[in-house]
Amino acid sequence: MTAVLRAEGLGKRYRRRWALSDCTLKIPAGHVTGLVGPNGAGKTTLLSLAVGLLAPTAGTIEVCGGRPAADAAQLAKVGFVAQDTPTYPGLSIADHLRLGARTNPRWDDAVARSRVERLGLDPAQKAGRLSGGQRAQLALTLGLAKRPELLILDEPVASLDPLARREFLQVLMEAVAEHEVSVLLSSHVVSDLERVCDHLVVLVDSQVRVEGDVESLLESHLRLTGPRREPATLPAGQHVVSASHTDRQSTLVVRTDAPVLDPSWTVGRLGLEDLVLAYMEGTRAVAPGPVMEVLR
Ligand code: ATP
Repeated sequence: MTAVLRAEGLGKRYRRRWALSDCTLKIPAGHVTGLVGPNGAGKTTLLSLAVGLLAPTAGTIEVCGGRPAADAAQLAKVGFVAQDTPTYPGLSIADHLRLGARTNPRWDDAVARSRVERLGLDPAQKAGRLSGGQRAQLALTLGLAKRPELLILDEPVASLDPLARREFLQVLMEAVAEHEVSVLLSSHVVSDLERVCDHLVVLVDSQVRVEGDVESLLESHLRLTGPRREPATLPAGQHVVSASHTDRQSTLVVRTDAPVLDPSWTVGRLGLEDLVLAYMEGTRAVAPGPVMEVLR
């Protein structure tokens, strides 16, 4: 597998707190990888390390075969749209495209212009006068037109309306298919990720909780519902991701490669959102309502 991002024992510490810790990852090239996790999980930290805006406190990270932001050639390979979609308020949209053309060796002017036109933006408009969503669209357009090998997007669709979100995700998928760009994007909207991602990384409490090909993850996780039972009594090979109990009933999310043969369980499949939530819930010791316990 060609990896577009490799991290080994990667960590970033702010004073005494680890924002990201012991992160070992291999993200495959040619895929759209979704990075999900609760607020403060370390997503932005990981993405900032990947583009060289932060330096690791521990471990190593390699992106497109090189050290992040090591030199001009490395910078040209990676496109990044930060969470606050920074643009230059005093420059017009046309100025931004000219700047992009000057500073990016693989700049695709036709893509940039056709996207601006399709979005109905006036090239003479100053970026400082755009709405938050329009500014995000401009930043995303610059990221795509740069024609990077890896496009990294930190919550790119957060400020877009539902229609714009769908359109943008469609454009992303087309870019992957046409130009073999790999994409790594973080989002809280799992339903959006479900539409475009074929690889997933779930980050919780500064650690990678699960990572892999979306289809395989969905195949290997099951929801078991049945009479109340302690998760510890499950056969080896059924790894409990999350468990909740009422007085009489248990609901478990398990990871397993083998079929569940115990007839006392009702076995169901999970969607991506349920799978992500199971890993996120798995970190909370006690939830209100039914008792929630977790084994890892
Ligand atoms: P969100 O979904 O809310 O954007 P995130 O998963 O992107 O969150 P990060 O921004 O990576 O999370 O933050 C991870 C942790 O590191 C948080 O606890 C945050 O408070 C801390 N952190 C991030 N940046 C700094 C900083 N510059 N100084 C100190 N702590 C920081």
